[in-house]
Amino acid sequence: MAEHKIFVLDDEPDIGRYVAQVAELSGVDSTYFSEPGEFLSAVESSPEACVAIDLQMPSMDGIEVLRQLSVLQFRRPIIIMSGMDRKVLEAARHFAKVNKLPVSDIVSKPARVEELRQIFQKLQGSTYLLPTKSELAEAMKRREFQLYLQPKVRIVEGLRSGADYIPIGFEGLMRWDSPTRGLVPPDVFIPLITAGHLNGEFADYLFDCAMVTLEGWRQAGIDASLAINMSASDVEDLGLADRLWKRCFGMGIDYGKVIIEVTESAAMRHPEQALDVLTRLRLRGFSLSLDDFGTGYSSLVQLQRLPFGELKIDRSLISDCIASEHTRIIVKAIIDLGHNLGLTVVAEGVEDQATLTLLHELNCDLAQGYFFARPLPAEQANAWWLKHLEAGVMPARP
Ligand code: C2E
Ligand code: CA
Ligand code: CA
Repeated sequence: MAEHKIFVLDDEPDIGRYVAQVAELSGVDSTYFSEPGEFLSAVESSPEACVAIDLQMPSMDGIEVLRQLSVLQFRRPIIIMSGMDRKVLEAARHFAKVNKLPVSDIVSKPARVEELRQIFQKLQGSTYLLPTKSELAEAMKRREFQLYLQPKVRIVEGLRSGADYIPIGFEGLMRWDSPTRGLVPPDVFIPLITAGHLNGEFADYLFDCAMVTLEGWRQAGIDASLAINMSASDVEDLGLADRLWKRCFGMGIDYGKVIIEVTESAAMRHPEQALDVLTRLRLRGFSLSLDDFGTGYSSLVQLQRLPFGELKIDRSLISDCIASEHTRIIVKAIIDLGHNLGLTVVAEGVEDQATLTLLHELNCDLAQGYFFARPLPAEQANAWWLKHLEAGVMPARP
């Protein structure tokens, strides 16, 4: 695997090849693409590559390319190239930020050689060797991935402070505890799992962790719901629902308390397949939650056809809703919309009491975030739960 690699996408071959050439001269292995479809397939199979993309193309606009990169959970540096004015470029940067895409540089066309050279040199400095497929497969064999748990709470009327909360469950978030790399976050390894076609194995590994967690709770008398996250490739895997169900069968699990979280962009990549898999999960009795809501722009008509029972408002909106009235209006509209569609609404990324109080005023049902707790290793999560019970708060039914 090349250490420094960049994929250049531009519909104008002269410009694209020129940028790719400057990259090569700066020591970065580069490939030029004129077709967004080919470019995106290459990114999916080589997520270690950085990308440079043109914002204006006849076959697919740059924002759509960014959106597709977000579906792939792309997390490598992105260079945006465009002849558009600064305002449009800033809007693109904002779109990328909301979608958790790391834009490292914005280059106005025509780009000067020296400017490009500096950017590529900077990239080299920031690139570190990503794990290979075999390293990830080995790590799974050695059981190095661990399910951390972040509490999920119901927002209730407070006795003293206006809004209070009671714990109802946890979201499981994977970490890779690598002996050589330290604790690696999922944003880094999930796209590599997908690129290495290890999704099926990883989902089974996650299900095993979930079963261990649920069994541990049963023994400790913890009556909590458990949410787990699925990628786009998982919800396109037609055997997924049966595999999960078989894992749970005979364990005395209330399937409704196992919640499958899927982002709206993952559910929308191949909506027909996702509809099939998500419906099967519902038919098996599992609960479904629409994750990161508010970051994509899928059609509500399509979303409504999917059998979700819960909607999670993305943390980029929640973290902004105290400071920005505009965002507050959007959050309120999402909460009302969710309720009108019969959905439970969750706010993610709650970091302070003021946000919790505001969400209570806006009628939001559930919340999650550092204000309650960070994702915790299993034992600490159990202790967190039991401490809340000791404090005299009874867990509510989700
Ligand atoms: P997500 O599902 O949106 O998970 C929430 C992320 O927000 C977590 O990051 C969590 O640590 C972080 N977070 C929670 N509360 C706060 C807060 O108050 N403030 C801030 N700033 N951040 C907060 P994490 O654990 O790094 O996970 C990132 C993403 O990786 C997840 O986003 C999820 O999409 C994905 N992921 C995690 N575990 C798995 C897995 O087992 N399978 C799959 N397919 N994806 C996973
Ligand atoms: Ca999630
Ligand atoms: Ca989320």
